[in-house]
Amino acid sequence: MRWKGDRKSSNVEDIRGSASSGFGGSSSSGGGLGFPGGAIGGGGIGVILMIVFSLFFSGGDLGSILSGGNGAVFTQQEQTANQSNTATTSTDDRKEFASVVFAHLEDYWNQTFTDYGKTYHDPTMVLFSGSVRSACGTASSAVGPFYCPGDQKVYLDLSFQDELANNFGASGDFAMAYVIAHEVGHHVQYELGISDQMEQIRRKVSEMEYNKYSVRLELQADYLAGCFAKYLAGETYNGKSILEAGDIDEAIYAANQIGDDTLQKQAQGYVVPDSFTHGTSAQRVAWFNRGYQYGDLEHGDTFSASNLDL
Ligand SMILES: [Zn+2]
Repeated sequence: MRWKGDRKSSNVEDIRGSASSGFGGSSSSGGGLGFPGGAIGGGGIGVILMIVFSLFFSGGDLGSILSGGNGAVFTQQEQTANQSNTATTSTDDRKEFASVVFAHLEDYWNQTFTDYGKTYHDPTMVLFSGSVRSACGTASSAVGPFYCPGDQKVYLDLSFQDELANNFGASGDFAMAYVIAHEVGHHVQYELGISDQMEQIRRKVSEMEYNKYSVRLELQADYLAGCFAKYLAGETYNGKSILEAGDIDEAIYAANQIGDDTLQKQAQGYVVPDSFTHGTSAQRVAWFNRGYQYGDLEHGDTFSASNLDL
């Protein structure tokens, strides 16, 4: 991705090294990427969410949401190999990169909400190290990046990029861009009222039942990240396309690596589908791809999808 020198978001709080960021206890909060401990609340809503979507996407073709679209958009195999010129190795580079991605996300979602006749409120990105206090509780870096609906902030430890690369084999700057876009996707869900409905549901249903809603919430965040990727693919910076060969593949690879089945196999050698909260690797890739294919909100209703495998 081309990013050096591009506009940086002003909605970034860098609290690394401050009192509210440090090493300490951990609990977690709503809307993480899918790491053990990244809890989210929940309960049973399909119908309600569909209504929200219908209201918001006035005129959207909800009926045809699931028809077609197997997500195989990326038949052109671009080399994943060389990402050297855009490597984000130093901490300063990583901060700048995350801030530029966050700025693009502001542009995209403000424009998209405007297109739908709605107003979008920018979230804030908090850069922390070790652990952090949020309105959703105290969280350690171990839970991975997360979004807290209570304060509308995305929490990110920049060292997560190392974890992506070293533990999940997902290197490349656009893997990180996907992660940030996924978290901002949760903010979009908050803006749409979906987070509130999830919270109500969580109070009413069993944990196992809520997990099913959680999977749909998470796959929708992946879809929204795919929409953002499609938008970026059409944008330029200094006369050159922002996306570079291999960027999309980096995002897809990252999505694949953090599927519940893949993570569970890695951690314990077997999978427990009832405990899935974020979807399988195949589902995460499929919904990201679908977002990248359509780039609109109408095709992203994971809550009324009868088959999440697409
Ligand atoms: Zn998430």
